Amino acid sequence: MKTASLFQNKTVFSLEIFPPKRTAHISTVYRMLDELKDVSPDFISVTYGIAGAADKYSTVEIAADVKNVYGIESVAHLPVAGMTRTDAERIVDALAEKGIENILALRGDYTEENRGRGDFAHAEELIRLIRQKGDFNILAACYPEGHPEAPDLETDLRYLKQKVDAGANHLITQLFFENTLFYSFLERARATGIAVPVEAGIMPVTNKKQAERMAELCKVQLPAKFVRMMEKYEHNPEALRDAGIAYAIDQIVDLAAQGVDGIHLYTMNNPDTAHRIHSAVKSLISVVS
Ligand code: FAD
Repeated sequence: MKTASLFQNKTVFSLEIFPPKRTAHISTVYRMLDELKDVSPDFISVTYGIAGAADKYSTVEIAADVKNVYGIESVAHLPVAGMTRTDAERIVDALAEKGIENILALRGDYTEENRGRGDFAHAEELIRLIRQKGDFNILAACYPEGHPEAPDLETDLRYLKQKVDAGANHLITQLFFENTLFYSFLERARATGIAVPVEAGIMPVTNKKQAERMAELCKVQLPAKFVRMMEKYEHNPEALRDAGIAYAIDQIVDLAAQGVDGIHLYTMNNPDTAHRIHSAVKSLISVVS
């Protein structure tokens, strides 16, 4: 099923997982999927190429098992920084062979190894390639506070519109901790002519260092009340986890009430957190609009 067709009279609820680290056994991902099944997500997306992920248990294999073994719709992430066109085509073909219809088309982040290499400068070029190759549903990333490399949000939105015009029909946002920034981004995106569904990316933060690292890396604001919460509980892991989960639930309650298209939960491969959040919001997201 194409994920763009899920947005019918409901708030879509999806999860993001990543392949196991090199040191971990593949069974860890399947144990996690066993636990996530009860959340009944509308789809699960599988990241690609995040540092430390094992090559041998590839995104393609895991996304195929999510769909074909667990019966949950899947989305395969495909970042192409440093990749040749031939290699990207090979991965797209492999996804088609496994019956995967949904690809999150990404440029990817530059590193010392991939900078200046490969055939792609922007995600838009990959979107065009996937469109030419077959009948895929194409997702793309968007950034409520602007992509870190963009000079300003207006420029970033102009390029986002180009990604949609090139064939992206479902967007997922970067994580954010301040809903008002998401609402103003959405208003501007709609005014730019971007009409496709936009899912809000929510990351439950359960660790102060991790939150600061993400904020620095993704250039997202940490609201004062969020910073105070982390400072108050930073030396009590259980309290900080509870507070981080409650904060994410608060964000989702507000987003659902305001009629957001969907919630994409960055699970950080933690099924317990996903369960706690889902059970707190499941009645809200199933309300028919
Ligand atoms: P682009 O859309 O190409 O944008 C990158 C920059 O170029 C922006 O500043 C944009 O304004 C500018 N730009 C865009 N198009 C043009 C154009 N035509 N001309 C000039 N400038 C342009 N990374 C991974 O490695 N693996 C993952 O699995 C992964 N999953 C992600 C999932 C989500 C939901 C999100 C939000 C991000 C994910 N990322 C992942 C991170 C992503 O790869 C980085 O944020 C990357 O820096 C940008 O990717 P993009 O596809 O948004 O790039």
